[in-house]
Amino acid sequence: MSYRDLKQAAWEANMELHRRGLVLYTWGNVSQLDRARGVFAIKPSGVPYERLGADDMVVVDLDNEIVEGKLNPSSDTRTHTHLYRHFEVIGGVTHTHSTYATAWAQAQQAIPCFGTTHADYAHGPIPCTAVMSDAQITRDYEEETGVQITDAFSGRDPGATPMVIVAGHAPFTWGKDAAESVYHAVVLEEIARMAYLTKNIDPSAGPLKQEIIDKHYRRKHGKDAYYGQG
Ligand SMILES: [Zn+2]
Repeated sequence: MSYRDLKQAAWEANMELHRRGLVLYTWGNVSQLDRARGVFAIKPSGVPYERLGADDMVVVDLDNEIVEGKLNPSSDTRTHTHLYRHFEVIGGVTHTHSTYATAWAQAQQAIPCFGTTHADYAHGPIPCTAVMSDAQITRDYEEETGVQITDAFSGRDPGATPMVIVAGHAPFTWGKDAAESVYHAVVLEEIARMAYLTKNIDPSAGPLKQEIIDKHYRRKHGKDAYYGQG
């Protein structure tokens, strides 16, 4: 993928995030990876969406060095880099502070799988990371945000659950490309809102039975999937 195409894909995904109403002001960022070249394009830091153009995207390598671009990359760049290095199946990352997903992050609670809408996209609860330690905060805050996430996924498949909430912070989502990571950010916000409402109706509500979670997940994912047009 040329840098031009990479920046275009990242820009379109960032604008889609804005159109979907998931970000206020400059909160949030999306990146698009080219794994073969070991580089990704990401939103620049602090530029309002209204003024954002494809040429403003910054191309960064997996050592966090700027390869092309005039602007500073998003302050969350090192989190994206960490995820690309550790989750080999992903090609796009989205970060937002969308309201309902962030509320669960602030409550420091995983989002239980209450229904099939959730099960269609994530196999089980949406994990919530541990709270960042003092040592991590002083070491390298953005890199350590990535460590919080990869630690929460030890023994868990990032392909089967393409989303996480970072304790006290907000969600990160990913996908095969930037566009899919934005799609998952939109889905996560809706899942988080439904889960919040479910808990309001019945504070003792428990997760959906495992057999239905498995059925819905496998209907759409994996070798026996049959949802859609094939
Ligand atoms: Zn953030």
